[in-house]
Amino acid sequence: MIRAMNPAPPSDGIYLDYHASTPVDPAVIEAMLPWWQHGTGNPHSHEHAFGWRAAEAVDRARTQIADLIGADSQDVIFTSGATDANNLAILGTMRCGESSRRTLLTTAIDHASILGPASALREEGFRCIALPVDPDGFLLRDAFLDALGEDVLLVSVGAANNEIGTLQDVPWIADRCHEVGALLHTDAAQALTAARPSFSDWGVDLASLSAHKAYGPQGIGALFIAPGTARHIRALSFGGGQQLGLKPGTLPTALCVGFGEACEILQNQGCAERQRIERLRDVLIASALTAIPGAELNGPREHRHPGNINLRLPCDDARDVIQRMQPAFAISSGSACQSGSDQASHVLEAIGLTGAQARACVRLGIGRFSTVEDVRAVVGAMASAVTASRECSCPDVALRA
Ligand code: PMP
Repeated sequence: MIRAMNPAPPSDGIYLDYHASTPVDPAVIEAMLPWWQHGTGNPHSHEHAFGWRAAEAVDRARTQIADLIGADSQDVIFTSGATDANNLAILGTMRCGESSRRTLLTTAIDHASILGPASALREEGFRCIALPVDPDGFLLRDAFLDALGEDVLLVSVGAANNEIGTLQDVPWIADRCHEVGALLHTDAAQALTAARPSFSDWGVDLASLSAHKAYGPQGIGALFIAPGTARHIRALSFGGGQQLGLKPGTLPTALCVGFGEACEILQNQGCAERQRIERLRDVLIASALTAIPGAELNGPREHRHPGNINLRLPCDDARDVIQRMQPAFAISSGSACQSGSDQASHVLEAIGLTGAQARACVRLGIGRFSTVEDVRAVVGAMASAVTASRECSCPDVALRA
């Protein structure tokens, strides 16, 4: 029998990789548990009470999500995560064929699940432009306005960057898009913990969400589709016609319930929580810059995700530093989706770092369960790991020390 590895108990290390995946809130687990244990029934079975109860739970979850994002529950469709939602938004809209418009605008720092579909569309003959950003990751407005012509069908801009934390001015971008009749999609996978996003106030037409970036379970997300926008999207998969036919398949009741609960918790405590995390983040940044001479902060000081820290370290390879901090600390060299690849982060290169500089950067993500003790411990361990890494890559340093 092949046994799965057990997860480490929380006391076994300090988890500071909240952008890759947040811990699941205990209240979310409690809400999901009965649905794993006794939740027999398909939420799409209309003929018996088992199905009705599951459908009711899914509807409630949809309402909890909609309440958090300032939407109507009928404008939320479940997906398997933000990757799935991004693919549906980008490919589904561009391939809809309702319009003679053939251009997609993204930014150069968008997630692989935006840039990947853009590459696929390029091969199909669409025009796809990845717009430049400034050294802090903010969309360059002049370049955006220059590119925003009558041929643009869809603009997609990540609301909160998962590597350097930049929070874009989505309402301003939405207004500009609508002036030329283009639709705006935002990848809001990291945005639920960054702000209280009201998609109707922001004026977005489409927005992607992910539960496991907001203390919910992995394997579920959502696409917000503003009223009247669904007709501009073509399904990418086909089946029983569930969810307007745009995302067919049996909904996982327990995961939907968990995502709903996670949203309700954020709605109740998100504001105070963000302030606490932001203070902790600033302590971490200040102490890391003091403890590690030569370290620099990547990304903006203002309009930054409250839990995001990205540092350029005075070392050759950040992966060596991270390796030296194992198994006690979970931090990363960038997006989990790109980890394991030798390629430098496209986000860091887009803000002007060379490949070598980008390879010397670490990302830390803090959140709900992070403490000031965690922050102190990680700064100390990182400072020691940087020193050890430098001594190893440059033996002269060790001799002189
Ligand atoms: N977009 C962003 C900005 C992300 O950070 C991530 C996760 N790394 C995704 C999309 C993909 O989300 P999921 O894991 O839910 O597919």
